[in-house]
Amino acid sequence: NAELSGDFSIFMDWAKEIRHMKVRANADTPRDAQYARSFGAEGIGLCRTEHMFFEENRLPVVRQMILSKNSLERKAALDKLLPFQRDDFVGILSAMEGYEVTIRLLDPPLHEFLPHTDKDMMTLAAQLGFSLEDLKQRVRALHEANPMLGHRGCRLGISHPEIYEMQVRAILEASEICKEQGKKVFPEIMIPLVGIETELKWLRDRLQKIAPNLPFGTMIEVPRAALVADKIARHADFFSFGTNDLTQTTYGFSRDDSAPFLRVYKQEHILEEDPFAVIDQDGVGRLIKLACELGRKENPGLKLGICGEHGGEPASVQFCNNLGLNYVSCSPFRIPIAMLAAAQAVVKK
Ligand code: PEP
Ligand code: MG
Repeated sequence: NAELSGDFSIFMDWAKEIRHMKVRANADTPRDAQYARSFGAEGIGLCRTEHMFFEENRLPVVRQMILSKNSLERKAALDKLLPFQRDDFVGILSAMEGYEVTIRLLDPPLHEFLPHTDKDMMTLAAQLGFSLEDLKQRVRALHEANPMLGHRGCRLGISHPEIYEMQVRAILEASEICKEQGKKVFPEIMIPLVGIETELKWLRDRLQKIAPNLPFGTMIEVPRAALVADKIARHADFFSFGTNDLTQTTYGFSRDDSAPFLRVYKQEHILEEDPFAVIDQDGVGRLIKLACELGRKENPGLKLGICGEHGGEPASVQFCNNLGLNYVSCSPFRIPIAMLAAAQAVVKK
């Protein structure tokens, strides 16, 4: 009821006054961004761009791009995708007008976008003018035994740079359109899965030719990135801790398949908490702390945030506050909890 929401909003204002960290949202659509704003989000900490590639009106072009045999063919398909991406970013930047929006370039392995059933393959072969056998061969060529450790994230951006170039061009054009409409927008470019400093340097050198003035940063989501965070920080304006993947890669537990044995681990007191829900301060947390220290030492202006699921979990938010992170980012519906936890962490400290 209205009275309750009135009291609640006063309470949230108090929390906002006390907390140090900003609370951003993980949001991929203008609708989610608006929803997040209504809960008090102060920007987007993670806009995953892969969901945009799945939309029905563009999926055939995405698939054409993925199945191209060379970069020339790929570029032709990407030219067709650019206006779609530009519209996506105009929508999301407008919905978050006045706040920073961290846009993560494409992350998943490309075969995730491809059809698997015979029926869908036949439809796609007809759409693209391939024989069914030719299509199947191209799909087979993309198969990976271990896709989560495979050809994804920045590895994809380096082997197929024209994909990231298209995305950065779309961000830049969207930002110009918003500015012409009188909107103040603040996009930031984020690279996923970096573990080697030269990965980030290589991409930055290339992408900054297109957008020299946009903030450029990286996710820290594999242990090596945390261990060499000083070297990585030379090429980054910000770090965002991807604790979903960082937990997966630090423990060597699959984030998609570990639930059954984690239940037993909890019963048997091998682990007291699910590390995918609460930051494991002894292991993953040490890597985060190390990355903050190394990163800040090398680059004192480095902005630090977290965008894994832990960014909306109170004990993890407290941990982030104590490390002096600039922001946490979480699902829109967890924003009030994160805001309260950020204030409570300040009071407790
Ligand atoms: C992460 O790995 O923590 C993250 C935020 O990215 P994603 O969940 O999309 O892999
Ligand atoms: Mg990740």
